[in-house]
Amino acid sequence: MKCPECSNPLRRMRYEGVEIHTCDGCGGEFIGQRELVHIVRTREARFDAQLQHKLADRKPLFGVPIEKTERELTCPTCEVNMNVVNYGGDTGVFIDKCVDCGGVWLDNEELEKIQILVERWQDEAPAQIAAMQARLDEVRRLTREQSQARYAGSRFAFVNALMNRFLDAA
Ligand SMILES: [Zn+2]
Ligand SMILES: [Zn+2]
Repeated sequence: MKCPECSNPLRRMRYEGVEIHTCDGCGGEFIGQRELVHIVRTREARFDAQLQHKLADRKPLFGVPIEKTERELTCPTCEVNMNVVNYGGDTGVFIDKCVDCGGVWLDNEELEKIQILVERWQDEAPAQIAAMQARLDEVRRLTREQSQARYAGSRFAFVNALMNRFLDAA
């Protein structure tokens, strides 16, 4: 398997209990879809304080800037073009994802960034849900008065979306 960025042969290694492929040339990593889910679910890694600090100040960023789409990478396994996606929808971490196998190509440090962000989502989710609760109850009350429970189940959908967000890299 070759690096889609610099064509060096990729080296197989273990990371948090799964096999990933890493490039010694550019520091990029290729990770299968299942392996990525496993990695973001485990919280073994310890991160550099400086990187954590940098990510703490980030603002949500939606979409993919044009310049990020200019590089066209090929999946090292399937050899089809990979799409650039904004991980989690608004993280500003842009990863290349294979449309065929769902594997992702991560540039140097991107995996660490994703893990830090996911840990933050997990830590903040209960507070976010509590904060949204009052607003959702209000919306539901108003809606029920106007149109008989059209929003029934919206809290469940919201929680579900929040919890599932980091299990899908797109
Ligand atoms: Zn490389
Ligand atoms: Zn692929």
